[in-house]
Amino acid sequence: MVKPTAKEPCVFCKIVAGEVPSYKVYEDDEVLAFLDVNPVNPGHLLVVPKAHYKTITDMPKDLYEEIAEKVWELSLKMQKALDPDGMNIVQNNNEHAGQLVPHYHVHVIPRYSGDSDRYIEEWKTKDLSKEEMKEVQAKLQS
Ligand code: AMP
Ligand code: ZN
Repeated sequence: MVKPTAKEPCVFCKIVAGEVPSYKVYEDDEVLAFLDVNPVNPGHLLVVPKAHYKTITDMPKDLYEEIAEKVWELSLKMQKALDPDGMNIVQNNNEHAGQLVPHYHVHVIPRYSGDSDRYIEEWKTKDLSKEEMKEVQAKLQS
């Protein structure tokens, strides 16, 4: 398979190529997992395809499935190794969704009962009317 590479310099492509150091945790032909340099907690992992794709909608389905399987395996490993009270599995697509590095990556974040922040509580939720709920439901169903 010919692997897409980034048009712009991409830090995760450089990690894959070994040009930027990282704390690798898992590696195979398609997938790499390494520690986030700004961890929410120790063990905060990033799981990336070695090929450069920016978002979920850019990626081929089989590669997405490959990553999902590795995220599942690594979450089991994390549960065993670190015994967290919970885990966040987070994946941001595009800048407006908080994506800082434009190379697809899944965060696997161990969380503990004493953590002062709760990732999801930083989201501002919206009060939608029944009509608005039904309208968006219909759009997503069609
Ligand atoms: P996101 O906001 O989902 O794009 O998250 C990007 C993540 O990549 C952030 O949590 C950064 O701390 C992390 N990051 C950026 N550069 C590196 C690097 N060289 N090695 C490991 N993690 C990195
Ligand atoms: Zn890249």
